[in-house]
Amino acid sequence: MAQREYKQLGCRDLGADCHFLVRSESEDELMILFSEHACRVHGRCEITPELKDRMRVSMKTICCEGECYEAPRMTGQSCWDSF
Ligand SMILES: [Zn+2]
Repeated sequence: MAQREYKQLGCRDLGADCHFLVRSESEDELMILFSEHACRVHGRCEITPELKDRMRVSMKTICCEGECYEAPRMTGQSCWDSF
């Protein structure tokens, strides 16, 4: 099956004790989704340039099998966990 590349960012990558992981093919979308979580769950609704830099530095590029694309993007459970 074809591999696809995604950007992934988790709260743990930013030092938070939280299992949230978000994955997207688009870096911009990933930042938006992550920002929504940071605001809703952590009360960090102000995305400062510094925080944006940290997000950019912390995000990883991962490969998932094609079927993974259909899975919810915002979840602590994903094909990533079974690697
Ligand atoms: Zn979180």
